[in-house]
Amino acid sequence: MSSPKLPGAPFLAYRDQELHLDQINLNQLAHEHGTPLYVYSRPAMLAALAPYQRALTGRAHLICYAIKANSNLAVLQTFAQAGCGFDIVSAGELARVLAAGGEATKVVFSGVGKTRAEMKTAIEAGVKCFNVESTAELEVLSQVAQSLGQVARVSLRVNPDVDAGTHPYISTGLKGNKFGIAHEVAVATYQRAAQLPGIEVVGIDCHIGSQITDTGPYLDALDRVLDLVEAIESHGIRIHHLDLGGGLGITYTDEVPPAADELIALLISRIDARGHGHRELMFEPGRSLVGNAGVLLTEVMYLKPGEQKNFCVVDAAMNDLMRPALYEAYMGIVNTRLSGDSPEVWDVVGPVCESGDWLGRDRSLAVHSGDVLAVLSAGAYGMTMASNYNTRGRAAEIMVDGDQTWVIRQRESVQELFAKERLIQTNV
Ligand code: PLP
Repeated sequence: MSSPKLPGAPFLAYRDQELHLDQINLNQLAHEHGTPLYVYSRPAMLAALAPYQRALTGRAHLICYAIKANSNLAVLQTFAQAGCGFDIVSAGELARVLAAGGEATKVVFSGVGKTRAEMKTAIEAGVKCFNVESTAELEVLSQVAQSLGQVARVSLRVNPDVDAGTHPYISTGLKGNKFGIAHEVAVATYQRAAQLPGIEVVGIDCHIGSQITDTGPYLDALDRVLDLVEAIESHGIRIHHLDLGGGLGITYTDEVPPAADELIALLISRIDARGHGHRELMFEPGRSLVGNAGVLLTEVMYLKPGEQKNFCVVDAAMNDLMRPALYEAYMGIVNTRLSGDSPEVWDVVGPVCESGDWLGRDRSLAVHSGDVLAVLSAGAYGMTMASNYNTRGRAAEIMVDGDQTWVIRQRESVQELFAKERLIQTNV
């Protein structure tokens, strides 16, 4: 019997026909904790971080894990203990960093719509840098910093107008995207920033998209950014750091993204060749650090063979894992127990009342009601995008390391879902 391809290998592997993450039997784990259940491997996360760290050794750098990919406190704690900084997009994410033991001085604050209150919180916490996305934001940030008697450190997120070659919803570096400051006006915006009393320019930043599987767009964006740095510095404005964002893809099915160390080596050689080697280098990886370190376990409830389609109804749904419904994303799905039974072709669907509620289409699986399936590569943009649609409590989360397991988030109860709602007083 051949085992299905596992993107999370070697941390994810079949032993005696049973799927294990590290040394933990996932079928047993699902029966102990119930389903849907997210499970993450701590060693897999650290192994994904290692090539970034290796490639940057010996140069001033900061790897800022992009929290939006997976914001569980234990995940943040893992990266904080490994020396990472964090890329945040809200005051909520900053609170998570601090609760997990991360340092505000290693935080960069990204996002197009920071509120005044968020700016104030972040300045008071002492974040390393704001990645500013518009002139309007710059003006407001300057006012907020001044009102606190402080100066906000800033890098401008420039939009290099480079096609990252990825899904339109996760492509961010094109002119038509809402992100960043247009290349043509970047120098003028830096000049404005340099005049503002509440702003100190410290760097430049770009992030061209997510799930990028080619080095070309990164190198193109880097060249555009370095052109800007040279132009900006010719006006006497000093750029201390280069932040090249995140976006490196992972293998969901047959993608072959470059390894992080290969990509960074290429970028560094271009940076050095152009005489920018003295600058601090920053990256904001999310998906590539956690995506293949996690799975979503779900139980098969009903098999519903049909004339046109066979449906395998599982207890996880689009509210637990939105990527298929949102981007038609492919996620590998395997049975946690291999049997000798012949596979059939199934659409794996959830119980939510939407036709878009599917996790996988046309999957060849040998399944029975009661089996536990693992949705693979679910460590990134899984739980962080989960909702309570259809009044479904969000899944529990487990961290594993070797033969140890920790419940890092309890399953949400139904009572918690409407605990903040109130009935109205009527005379009727
Ligand atoms: N930095 C910024 C500004 C982002 O918007 C994102 C994600 O969209 C990331 C970093 C992380 O991207 P990824 O998870 O693809 O590495």
